[in-house]
Amino acid sequence: MTHRIINFSAGPAVLPLEVLEEAQRDLVDYKGAGLSVMEMSHRSPHYDAIHQGAIASLRSLVGIGEDYAVLFLQGGASLQFSMVPMNLMHPARKADYVLTGPWSQKALKEAVKEGGARAAGSSEGTGFDRIPAASDLDLDGEADYVHFTSNNTIVGTQWRSEPEAGDVPLVADMSSDILSRPIDVARYGLIYAGAQKNLGPAGVTLVIVRKDLLERAPESLPTMLAYRTHAAKSSLYNTPPCWSIYVVGLACQWLERQGGLEAMARRNAEKAARLYDLIDAGDFYRGTAQVASRSLMNVPFRLPSEELESRFLETAKEADMTNLKGHRSVGGIRASIYNAMPLESVDRLVELMREFERTHG
Ligand SMILES: *Cc1c(COP(=O)(O)O)cnc(C)c1O
Repeated sequence: MTHRIINFSAGPAVLPLEVLEEAQRDLVDYKGAGLSVMEMSHRSPHYDAIHQGAIASLRSLVGIGEDYAVLFLQGGASLQFSMVPMNLMHPARKADYVLTGPWSQKALKEAVKEGGARAAGSSEGTGFDRIPAASDLDLDGEADYVHFTSNNTIVGTQWRSEPEAGDVPLVADMSSDILSRPIDVARYGLIYAGAQKNLGPAGVTLVIVRKDLLERAPESLPTMLAYRTHAAKSSLYNTPPCWSIYVVGLACQWLERQGGLEAMARRNAEKAARLYDLIDAGDFYRGTAQVASRSLMNVPFRLPSEELESRFLETAKEADMTNLKGHRSVGGIRASIYNAMPLESVDRLVELMREFERTHG
């Protein structure tokens, strides 16, 4: 019998069981090809269908127009912290960053190495417990782009809607909430996301970029670091992470079967509400993010003491619920409840929390 735990990890994170089973079914002999996706040439007709199919699925699922390129890159979201400014911080050589957590700080740190990037807003003063209000942003209308982190994986906050940047292109790190809700792609210059939280396995990074912006990068940029290299070759300039792209394609098909992004957004809101309702119902659990800024993907909370938190984690583990420990930089508890986390699993956690409060509160 296969034993599956309930995995609340922030990433790499839970994948839909149906996706894993489909990959397992086709693992050794991919649809009669006589070999696995991991063994195929990336120039073979079988792989080409997988690759172009994954791009087509993403395009239809999200509603990505032909004026945008869909790229599968490597190096994680962390390489995008550098590639974004290298490619887009032209011609003004300045960019605005809204700081809402450790990941946006890391993005700015890399951008500063490339040119005049600066913080145009920050919630660091209150421990990143919120998304700054529009009135707290100091945006430069001449900047090459405005960067923000749509969901803050570590501190558990999420933008409800995009910052208003006028004609300045928006760039978003959507690593931990991509495909969790509809995206109005036309509002963006570029979107990037490491796959291992809400898309698929680690090893591939999705980039959606408006095609006119591809021309901003200087000729001197190393070939592999220029978006236009990958756009011109449909992300087949060099060997792509074939297996990861294959699983991303399966996950997109799974999302279609679930009813698409609108349906996912409703389910994600319902899952998060079950946890936040319990947290707000008493004094035992305490949410760490401001209510209006709360993330629907990562739900961080505290118990009355660190000792109780440790005991809670042990109790959860005994009940097969794992990876609930908050990020080492903030402590506490964090439940990551991405697309692939079923409502029933969230209900199991809610039950456990009720029972723990009853016996320890
Ligand atoms: C996890 C994470 C990253 C880092 O992703 P890598 O793929 O490991 O480089 C960046 N941004 C956000 C918002 C994340 O959650």
